[in-house]
Amino acid sequence: MTSIPANLQAVKQRLALALQAAGRPPAAAVLMAVSKTWPAGAVREAAEAGHTVFGENYVQEGVSKILDPALAGLQWHFIGPLQSNKTRLVATHFDWVHSIERLRIAERLSTQRPPDSEPLQVCIQVNVSGEDSKSGVSPAECLELARQVSMLPNLRLRGLMCIPEPSHDSALTRQRFATLRALLEALRRDGLDVDTLSMGMSDDLELAVAEGSTMVRVGSAIFGNRQYQAISKE
Ligand SMILES: *Cc1c(COP(=O)(O)O)cnc(C)c1O
Repeated sequence: MTSIPANLQAVKQRLALALQAAGRPPAAAVLMAVSKTWPAGAVREAAEAGHTVFGENYVQEGVSKILDPALAGLQWHFIGPLQSNKTRLVATHFDWVHSIERLRIAERLSTQRPPDSEPLQVCIQVNVSGEDSKSGVSPAECLELARQVSMLPNLRLRGLMCIPEPSHDSALTRQRFATLRALLEALRRDGLDVDTLSMGMSDDLELAVAEGSTMVRVGSAIFGNRQYQAISKE
């Protein structure tokens, strides 16, 4: 059976070794614990083990954890597909959104961000796998969307996110991460102040860290294999 604190420790160790192997400083990448489909009690176990950064895919499920008084003081990242009828909840409750792929959604988030909140930290999701994956802007569209998002007043553009197609070919996966890294460098050359590469999951975090990931999103290696899709289908 899984022990969340022990799994968390093991993943932190993997991350530390990957950073070391890449010649990067120990704090160069943040670990996000992806708690989608897991109950508040699982988040609490991780939080009591000292973890503070969590990711959720489904708006309703995420908001119910964010509003749970037993889980106060944590940082919450929205990493799933976002439809316009859910932007207000996300703008109100989350700290980060990694899955921006349309200007219209970004504009709504900026307008709906409460005035007394910090700017919403956002990443643009890029489809680095071509036709195999449906979510994200194409690499060709990334710079233009980044320029537009960077001008929205209540958002702060932090960088780029990707989910490569599932593959057993680690050279291919690494190539996808390299594509995202090159795109982030292009944004910087364009003058955008971006620092985040959100890439790497349970099965491929080492490859992502080797290509410069600054935030890995890890679910099953911490919480166990997800047994069901989502608490609420949206
Ligand atoms: C579920 C999910 C993760 C975590 O995946 P694991 O393979 O369980 O580590 C990371 N990022 C996104 C966008 C996800 O939907």
